[in-house]
Amino acid sequence: MNLIFLGPPGSGKGTQAKRIAAKLGLLHLSTGDVLREAVKNGTGLGKKAQKFMEAGELVPDELIIGLIEEKLKAGALNDGFILDGFPRTIPQAEALRDMFARNKKVIHRAILLDVTDDEVIRRLSGRYYCPTCNAGYNYPMQLPKKEGICDNDGTRLLRRPDDEEVVVKNRLNVYKKQTEPIVDFYRKESILAAIKDNGGGPDRITESLLAEIAKINKA
Ligand code: AMP
Repeated sequence: MNLIFLGPPGSGKGTQAKRIAAKLGLLHLSTGDVLREAVKNGTGLGKKAQKFMEAGELVPDELIIGLIEEKLKAGALNDGFILDGFPRTIPQAEALRDMFARNKKVIHRAILLDVTDDEVIRRLSGRYYCPTCNAGYNYPMQLPKKEGICDNDGTRLLRRPDDEEVVVKNRLNVYKKQTEPIVDFYRKESILAAIKDNGGGPDRITESLLAEIAKINKA
């Protein structure tokens, strides 16, 4: 099963992609996670990506497309995956389509997690993560047992620098301008599905996603 999760920053893509990938035995490939790791390790990619990420801007297409091409060549996308945070522009979506056509691969669904702007801002301003195991928390919705400390390994929780309010607003603008057009791209390819977030909480969304994915298996 080959899936793309789409949605604005803070839509819960990462959380849901992690859960669904674990449940269905798929690879979870988050370009944001790959880039943050590259920045942390000071690699060539990290050095090129850092200033864009800190400003809430997108990293240039050729860097990201190159990264996905490498994963494809290495066979990482052979046994089913969820792409989280890629593609994020029309040129990225086109490059993915062409790469996959050359390799006789298909995307089964692009699933949009549909959340309002106000909800995005509310969520991102309360978002914290563990730098050791990458677990996510949210004040006041998903609190760790001990304030500011990861439940899994006791590490002090941090905020992503790009979750600060000015940067969040820019990321949302960037999403609307550069990423939202790919919703139509996948609608035209007839592989789009949308899950509306009505505030029922993350477990409800996971159920809706699993139901949507079950339809693919039956098709
Ligand atoms: P995310 O964790 O998906 O919110 O990504 C964090 C940041 O990484 C984004 O704000 C971008 O700067 C960069 N990034 C991640 N994925 C992409 C992509 N597909 N294209 C361009 N930039 C990306």
